[in-house]
Amino acid sequence: AADTDVEIRHDPVETADGVDIEVAANIGTRADLGPAVDRGADGVGLFRTEFLFLDRESPPDEDEQFDAYVEAAESFDAGRVVVRTLDIGGDKPVPYLDLPDEENPFLGERGIRRSLGPDADLFETQIRALLRAAGSADGARLSVMLPLVSTVEELRRAREQFESVADDLTEEGIVHEMPEFGIMVETPATAFMADQFAPHVDFFSIGTNDLAQYVMAAERGNERVSDLGDYRQPAVLRAIDATVSAADDTDCWVGMCGEMAGDPDLTELLVGLGLDELSMSAVTVPQVKAAVTETDTEDAEALAARVLRAETKAEVIETLTENQ
Ligand code: PEP
Ligand code: MG
Repeated sequence: AADTDVEIRHDPVETADGVDIEVAANIGTRADLGPAVDRGADGVGLFRTEFLFLDRESPPDEDEQFDAYVEAAESFDAGRVVVRTLDIGGDKPVPYLDLPDEENPFLGERGIRRSLGPDADLFETQIRALLRAAGSADGARLSVMLPLVSTVEELRRAREQFESVADDLTEEGIVHEMPEFGIMVETPATAFMADQFAPHVDFFSIGTNDLAQYVMAAERGNERVSDLGDYRQPAVLRAIDATVSAADDTDCWVGMCGEMAGDPDLTELLVGLGLDELSMSAVTVPQVKAAVTETDTEDAEALAARVLRAETKAEVIETLTENQ
């Protein structure tokens, strides 16, 4: 690839003026761990656990999941590994789960909606594996996050599940720990309500793939509307800005794990918008780390303010290009 001349940095990076930005990798399977470490990721910002459930005839049991989460945490000496609970439905079918036939699966029963509904048993098993792994893995700290949350009730109900499973484990005398707890921000509802969510979580991770799809009402992966579903649309940028601003006065940190986070041409903008962490395919980690070190936060904030004034995607792109 054209990036072979980019230095691989194995330590965390900061901006030119000394602000720490975590640069992490997205993973799906254990095969992604090696490249994440080799390319210098500080940890994992998104472990898509649905991949543990694909291409097989039955779900992985508690011990198999436990091993996968411990292995991910122990692949890093420090940092964090954010494990996302099962996110299926929509574009992610699992044959043995007998998913409903919906006319609009992206607007249907997917992500946390299934975990709090028909997949409650799977959810409980996954929580047991996660709490046990958080209590026994060395290396990176394990964190958990919930996909496709759109109401505070969903967050509450899921958290209650975690607490009830922790009680069970205590009663059974099994080593466990409550991990750092966050949600993905990938629906407009959650971006609008971010100030209400922030006090209840340790972090947000903005999923721009779904957020752009839902903000713009433009199906992801549908080429006929790909211009609309672009994360550089001003409305998507506003949703990101609203989310980060809502978390500003709280202890809630904000990351991004959609494709946008891995675009080095946007790193300065994302730092300027106030993101604390960026998580991406391992391939682009070195470029994004390089871009962070070249960024001055004051300039980045000025850039973000200019970009947020744009009326159109074309103007966003023009503002970014002029800045380069
Ligand atoms: C996203 O929606 O941006 C995201 C990171 O989750 P996924 O791509 O797995 O839906
Ligand atoms: Mg998503």
